[in-house]
Amino acid sequence: MNSVTLVLNAGSSNVKFAAFARSAPIPGRPNTLLAPPERLLHGVLDGVGDKARLQAWDRNGAALSGEQLPPSPDTPQGHAQTFQHLFGWLERQLPGQHLHGVAHRVVHGGEHFTQAMRVTPELLTQLDALSPLAPLHQPHNLAAIRVVAALAPQLPQVVCFDTAFHAKQPWVMQAYALPAHIREAGVRRYGFHGISYEYIASVLPAHLGEQADGRVVVAHLGNGASMCAMRQRQSVATTMGFTALDGLMMGTRCGNLDPGVVLYLIQSLGMTPPEVEALLYRSSGLLGVSGISGDMRVLQDSADPRAAAAIDLFVARIARELGGLAATLGGLDALVFTAGIGEHSAAIRSRVCHDAAWLGVEIDEAANQAVHQTGQTRISTARSRVSAWVIPTNEERVLAEHAQALLLGEEMRT
Ligand code: ADP
Repeated sequence: MNSVTLVLNAGSSNVKFAAFARSAPIPGRPNTLLAPPERLLHGVLDGVGDKARLQAWDRNGAALSGEQLPPSPDTPQGHAQTFQHLFGWLERQLPGQHLHGVAHRVVHGGEHFTQAMRVTPELLTQLDALSPLAPLHQPHNLAAIRVVAALAPQLPQVVCFDTAFHAKQPWVMQAYALPAHIREAGVRRYGFHGISYEYIASVLPAHLGEQADGRVVVAHLGNGASMCAMRQRQSVATTMGFTALDGLMMGTRCGNLDPGVVLYLIQSLGMTPPEVEALLYRSSGLLGVSGISGDMRVLQDSADPRAAAAIDLFVARIARELGGLAATLGGLDALVFTAGIGEHSAAIRSRVCHDAAWLGVEIDEAANQAVHQTGQTRISTARSRVSAWVIPTNEERVLAEHAQALLLGEEMRT
């Protein structure tokens, strides 16, 4: 019987999922896969905890029959009903296939968890303690693991952390200028989007050739947005820090902010800490500045000057952070765009590349506009000193690979 790995990326209102065929190990190297696992289908459960709807696509991108699920309450029991439905649906879609494990994205691994781990009750308790550092993501990531554990206690579950890719950055890129006792309590930069950066790092040679090991900045521009400076495909510095609030302006998060603003909000404007948290995570960024939407497509389609102002600020922040990351690397060889905005908005890429002209980026506007028609990933001219690229990310594949390698390794040892 063939085995499949289920990958889950659980957010606040949706759960993205994908099923991957299990890949074989390299003979004699149980933790290393012969080839990347193949994706059999993927989909999204929207409206979890209310009127959930399942949409999915097969390996060729053709839509599989969507389903409206029976209403279920926004409680662990309600979520369990929704997941049970998903499991039943998967069995019908993949007859004769055995589900051998589930891989989850977990945003924060803190100081101690820097590689894929098998889920245990003790691990979940330790990861709960990190929820205040990633309130938009961590509680939902962990809730999904608990629901699956309750539904299928024997099914192995593996977690991968968005912080892990940055764990080996130099100390000066991780430390805040705070006293030792605060730093020793784990208050430092961790960085996020590491699963996406790990994927991009793995495919850089296929696109960039020898430049892949040079000075590369990857811009992951989605609802959450960050940039990562890499050398030899390792993370050297990144824009996010202790939490996923820092750095670039995002859909609803403020990005880089003087910590004095937080003090002012509390001490002078009388806001409570939960109010400040809601402001900085949920009602700032593109949404807060425009007063219209946190969705880049909506802002790009709007004639409202507030939408234009929000986009101006978004681009200006990228330009400024890019300068800082290039300084960290001692120059720049390549700039890579990925995630929703990075992959799909030619207008934003064009503006970022023009702002980066001083670094040596010369955009090929025709190539930039035609990325989706031509499938060509290079968007800079042949003579551009710094090359620019659009490379679609694939976090699910990294999750499947880690889970399969870890579980295969365990099986070989038993
Ligand atoms: P998440 O962080 O939730 O995974 P995504 O990587 O899917 O987010 O990115 C979502 C963002 O990408 C949204 O701001 C959305 O408007 C933007 N986006 C998606 N398609 C386009 C497009 N064609 N043009 C501009 N922005 C787009």
